[in-house]
Amino acid sequence: MNQTLPPGLYIVATPIGNLSDLSPHAAAILSAADVIAVEDSRVTAKLLAHLGVKRPMLPYHDHNADHVRPGLIARMAGEAVALVSDAGTPLISDPGYKLVRDARAAGVNIQTAAGPCAAIAALTLAGLPTDRFLFLGFLPPKAGARAAAIAEVAAVRTTLILYESGPRLAATLAALDEGLGAREAAVVREISKKFEETVTGTLAELATRYEGAPPKGEIVIVVGPPGEAAPAGEAEIDAALREAMGRLSASRAAAEVAAALGLPRKTVYERALALK
Ligand code: SAM
Repeated sequence: MNQTLPPGLYIVATPIGNLSDLSPHAAAILSAADVIAVEDSRVTAKLLAHLGVKRPMLPYHDHNADHVRPGLIARMAGEAVALVSDAGTPLISDPGYKLVRDARAAGVNIQTAAGPCAAIAALTLAGLPTDRFLFLGFLPPKAGARAAAIAEVAAVRTTLILYESGPRLAATLAALDEGLGAREAAVVREISKKFEETVTGTLAELATRYEGAPPKGEIVIVVGPPGEAAPAGEAEIDAALREAMGRLSASRAAAEVAAALGLPRKTVYERALALK
């Protein structure tokens, strides 16, 4: 057992481009951990080489996680187990949440060495409102499922953050323009790397820019919230309530419609009762 790091689970964020972004806290944990659960041991081996240390690594990824998890949880009772992903914060569009869930259920000591995350870094670069935001991860690749996922958030009045790849960028921007309407956006690429770039414009402008010219590297899309909406009319409220009451109780339907249309919940609930 390691003498300097108490047993438990250590969630360790690693750089998304610039190795200097590895915090001293993260470096200390990675240097002392009894075992490091990794997505790809070749990627983490490079980071450990940068630190000049060698630690045992255990692959933990989508394909083996269910099989490996119980053994890892058992080890946390007496050993310091670190969790990293290939880059950035583990669990954010990366494996790990079930490991944390089960470790918590087992009463394991859990600590985090917080650090780089592409979603947050892109949000800070985009120049779009940061007071409220919704992280969507990767949208489904197929057009129908992607349009449905976009429709689900069309009424949400916050900045949206998405991960995307170069070959799919233009199609995703066009689908966002179609499903969300005209909005300001930013394509943030290769954060903290040599070719870092932030390009801003409307969704339609950005879709046109990248059509037929897929950019290289890693990409985050940030989409601004919708502009001030005209107050919803009675017919729109009634239609939304009828649809929602087909699925939900009057009070839940009223809460959903009130949030979607930016209206007081009490007013919408009274209307729901009248329609019932
Ligand atoms: N857990 C990671 C994090 O905290 O950002 C994200 C992992 S996810 C599998 C990988 C995606 O994150 C990439 O496809 C890209 O969309 C985004 N990403 C990661 N590094 C990036 C970078 N340096 N610049 C822009 N986007 C990046």
